[in-house]
Amino acid sequence: MQIVYFPHPALRFKSADIRQIDNNLRTVVRRMFELMYEANGIGLAANQIGLPLRVFVMNLAADPEETDQEFVFINPQITNRKGSDVAEEGCLSIPKLYADVRRPSDVQIEAFDLDGQLFEMSLDDLPARVVQHELDHLDGVMFTDKVIESQRKDVEPVLNVFEETLRQAQAAKAYLSDDELLNTLREIAAAGGVPGSFLEETVAPPQADVPASLLRARKGRGEAE
Ligand code: ZN
Repeated sequence: MQIVYFPHPALRFKSADIRQIDNNLRTVVRRMFELMYEANGIGLAANQIGLPLRVFVMNLAADPEETDQEFVFINPQITNRKGSDVAEEGCLSIPKLYADVRRPSDVQIEAFDLDGQLFEMSLDDLPARVVQHELDHLDGVMFTDKVIESQRKDVEPVLNVFEETLRQAQAAKAYLSDDELLNTLREIAAAGGVPGSFLEETVAPPQADVPASLLRARKGRGEAE
């Protein structure tokens, strides 16, 4: 299991509801936390590791020692949103790109945890932003779709580098084609659970080398989701 990068088709796939919480899902969730910490992130959605199921993880401390800050959201739904706020976001599927996004400032979210218990949280500020960013992932929406107008021109060239990187790897047969990737995504979504085959080693997705001149300077601490 590894983080996949834009424009991997998993990132544009509408993820399916999870039908059973089993040991495969628990293994995946543990690995998602590990991958998130390795990448210094504060949130990660399952389709960011190529798994088209509705689950994401969050730890705002970005610290594996702070396990009380770890949250797992299964089949999440935002039940209320209000306010509006612009802040910088980054994404583990488009490393090093940061840009401003406008979102509701306050949200109420409900989801199931790994014990199958329904819980509800009222969030504002950063946590509200993180859960909205992750829920967008599950619907195939990237933060770059929502970047404020004045920064869109800065985002485009970076996305182009990511696009070229994946297409070159696919052309060289160093990575799976979109059709092959989509077939797997559809199978897993139809099953509504994590197949054993997903836990096996896979080919590492190609990583883009984005020239520093194309990257916006980040304002915040550089957390990504
Ligand atoms: Zn993201």
